[in-house]
Amino acid sequence: MQENCTSNPSPKERRKAKRASQSRAGTHGIWDNIGYLLRNIARRYPALLCMMVVEIAAGVAAPAFGIYLPKLAADLALGQTALAPAQTALLLGGVAFIMAVVYGARDIAGRGKYMHYNFVRQDLAHEVYYKSLECDFPVVERAEGQAWFARAQMTLLNGDWSCTSRMVVALMTIATSTLSFLLYSGILATLNPLIVVLLLGLSALNSLALRYARRYSLARREEAAVLENRLGYVEEEARDVRAGKDIRLYGMAGWFTALRERLMDDYSQVRRDIAARDFRAALVDALLLLLRDGAAYAYLIYQATQGRIGAGDFVLYAGAIAGFGGFISGIVGQFGLLQDASERMNDVRSFLEQSNAPDPADPLPPPQGMPSIEFRDVCFSYDGEHNVLDHLSFSLVPGERLALVGVNGAGKTTIVKLLCGLYAPDSGTILLGGVDAARLRRADRFALFSPVFQDVALFPFSLAENVSLRPMWETDLARAANCLTRAGLGACTGDGGLARPVSREISDDGWNFSGGEQQKLLLARALYKDAPIMVLDEPTSALDPIAESQTYEQFDLLARGKTALYISHRLASTRFCDRVLLISGGRVQEEGTHESLLRAGGEYAHMFQVQSQYYQKGAEEA
Ligand code: ADP
Repeated sequence: MQENCTSNPSPKERRKAKRASQSRAGTHGIWDNIGYLLRNIARRYPALLCMMVVEIAAGVAAPAFGIYLPKLAADLALGQTALAPAQTALLLGGVAFIMAVVYGARDIAGRGKYMHYNFVRQDLAHEVYYKSLECDFPVVERAEGQAWFARAQMTLLNGDWSCTSRMVVALMTIATSTLSFLLYSGILATLNPLIVVLLLGLSALNSLALRYARRYSLARREEAAVLENRLGYVEEEARDVRAGKDIRLYGMAGWFTALRERLMDDYSQVRRDIAARDFRAALVDALLLLLRDGAAYAYLIYQATQGRIGAGDFVLYAGAIAGFGGFISGIVGQFGLLQDASERMNDVRSFLEQSNAPDPADPLPPPQGMPSIEFRDVCFSYDGEHNVLDHLSFSLVPGERLALVGVNGAGKTTIVKLLCGLYAPDSGTILLGGVDAARLRRADRFALFSPVFQDVALFPFSLAENVSLRPMWETDLARAANCLTRAGLGACTGDGGLARPVSREISDDGWNFSGGEQQKLLLARALYKDAPIMVLDEPTSALDPIAESQTYEQFDLLARGKTALYISHRLASTRFCDRVLLISGGRVQEEGTHESLLRAGGEYAHMFQVQSQYYQKGAEEA
C-alpha cells in the first residue's frame, strides 16, 4: 500500500511544524526595544542623539530657572542679599540671559529632533516595504502575513503617533521628568524630607487611579474598535454602487437602518462607560491633587508664619510643589505610552526579523538549455492537515508543452507555485533538468521561469519597465519594443509610448489597457525574460472568446523552443499542447493527448462535453 502523506509524522505534529515555520519571530521586551531604537539613532543619526540630550538638559534647566528667578527677585527686593544695585541688576540680567539661552536651545533642539525622528521612522518604513517585497511568498499569501505587514506599516505611517516618534518623545519626557523630579525632591527635602514622602505617596495613589481608568478604557476600546469596524461596513454598503441595486430592489433600507441603529446604540454605550470611568478617575485625581498640594502648601504657610522661611524661599518651595506632581504624572503617563509604542515596535521588528528559507549550503549549478521537469511523489498541504497534492508524479521532456486541467481547487496553481519555488513540497522531489530543484539557489531557480499568471500584475512604472521589470536605465528599449510588437502591442511603442506609465492612477496620460491588452503586455513580459520554461496559469480567464483564441495562437508561437506548462479550465484550449494531464484528488487522474482523452471517454471527455454544450448554448443565445 502506498504510504499516505499524513501518516508520518502525525497530522497534529505536521500542523504545528507548518505553523511554527510560518509564524512570526519572537517579541521583544520594552528595554530591548528602547536599546534597538537608540542604537538605530546613534548609528544613523548621531545628531539626533545630541539634540535629545540638549533638549532634556534644557527641559530640566528651564523650569528650574523659572522657579529660581522669582526667589532671587524676592530676596533682592527684600534686601536679603548684600549686593550693590549694579550687582543686583547684573545678577538678574545674567540669570534672565541664561534662561533665554536655555529656552532657545530647547526650542532649536526640539525642532531639529522633530525633523530627524521622522527620518528614523521613514528609514524603518522603507525597510518594512523592502522586506514585504522580498520575504518568502507564503508570508505574503497568508492572511496573517498580510495583517502582520499592515500592522508594521501602519504604525510607521502614523506620523507623530508612529512607534518610533512616540518612543522618542516618551523617553525624553520620562528622562526630563525624572531628572526634574530628583532636582525638586532635593529642593523640597531642604524644607522637610517628609514633604517629599507625602507628595510621593499621594502622587503614587493618584497614578494608580489613572492607570486603573486607562486599563479599563484600553480594554473597552478594543470593543469600540470592533463596533466601529462594523458600523463602517454598514455605512460603506450604503455608498456601494453594486450593493445599491439589491438594497433598493429587495427593499433592504429599513433592515440596514435598524442594523446601524443597533450598532450605534452598542457603540454609544461603550463610549459612555469609558467616559464614566474616566470621569471618576478625574474626580479622584482632582481630590488627591487638592489633598497633596493643599497639605504641602499648608505646611509651607505654617513655616512662613512661624518665620522659619523667608519670602524668597517661600516662592521657591511653592514653585517646586507645583511642579512636583506634574513630573510624577508625566513619568507615569509617558510610561504607558512607551509600553504601547514598544508593543507596536514589536510588530515592526518581528516583521523585519523573519528569516527567509535559506539557499542550500551546497547549491548545484542551474540546468542549461531547455530543461525537463519532473514531479516525483510530491505531497503538499497549506495547513499541514489537508493535502492539496497527494503523491503527485508527472514529467515533461525538454521542449514539451503540457496542459494541466482539472476542476477549481484541484491544485493546478499550487503545482505552479511549487514548480517555481514559491512554496516547498512537504515531501517528494521536483527535478528541473534532472537537478533536484531544492539544491538550486533561489535566484537561479526563479531565472528559469517566464510565468504568465491569471491575475494581471501591472506596476505603476512606464510601459517599457512593465515589460522588462527593470528600471528604465537597465531596460533594453529596442528589445522591449520588439517583444511588445510580437505580443500584438506594436501600436503602443511609437510616440514615446514606451515611456508612458501603465496606470491612469499616477499620471493623466498613462495607458489604460483593456483586459486583452493587459494579457498581451504579460506575454511581452514573458518574451522579454526569455526564460527556458514558460508557465501559463489560466492566462485567458478574463478574456472574451475572440481575444482568447487570438491569445492561444500567440502562446503557441511563444512556447516554441521552450518547455511549457499550461493551465486552463477551458479544455478546448489545450489542443495546442502535446499532452494533457487531468488533476483530481491531488494526483494525475487521466493522461494523454486531447484527442486520445476524448476517445477514452473518461472524466476529461465528460468535462469537455459539458463545456462544449455550455459554450454552444451561449453562442446560440448570442
Ligand atoms: P486550482 O488552481 O486547481 O483551482 P489551487 O491550487 O488554487 O487550485 O487550490 C487548491 C486548494 O488549495 C484549494 O482547496 C484552495 O482552496 C487551497 N488553497 C489555495 N491557496 C491556498 C492558500 N494560500 N492557503 C490555503 N489554502 C489554499
